[in-house]
Amino acid sequence: MKNVIIAGSKESSILRQNCYPVEVPGDQVTADMIIGLLKEVLDNNSDAAGIAAPQIGFSKRIAVIHKSVVNSKEHLVLINPEVQTIGVDTTAEVEGCLSFPGLSKRVKRFKNVTVSTLLSASSNDKVTIKLTGFPSRAVQHEVDHLNGITILEK
Ligand SMILES: [Zn+2]
Repeated sequence: MKNVIIAGSKESSILRQNCYPVEVPGDQVTADMIIGLLKEVLDNNSDAAGIAAPQIGFSKRIAVIHKSVVNSKEHLVLINPEVQTIGVDTTAEVEGCLSFPGLSKRVKRFKNVTVSTLLSASSNDKVTIKLTGFPSRAVQHEVDHLNGITILEK
């Protein structure tokens, strides 16, 4: 299994980088490989809400949300995700992060968002999902990672 990059380690500068978009369909093979590795990390971390590609060393706009968070049979794959807020309501809750073992931090986030994502890296078909509560928080956390932002900066 791919190791998760821990803040402060020698590879950790990737956690501060704005990730590159997935090119469709040119990046399809790479994207599928990254998605497989991210799912594997989640399958082995049942208490992780999600993980983003830079956390395993890839500067690509891909993240996966644990299926338990979205109450689904499948993990939710985000490719080139775009978050839009709905309204201005915010809520502050304690979050953790696989890249910051042992750290819990209260983070303020928007309550309600939509996320648009490619369905796969093979075509430009997109889906937009409306989220509230913890799934909304988890998606905002992972999309922050794709912009080089961790809970330390929040
Ligand atoms: Zn994180």
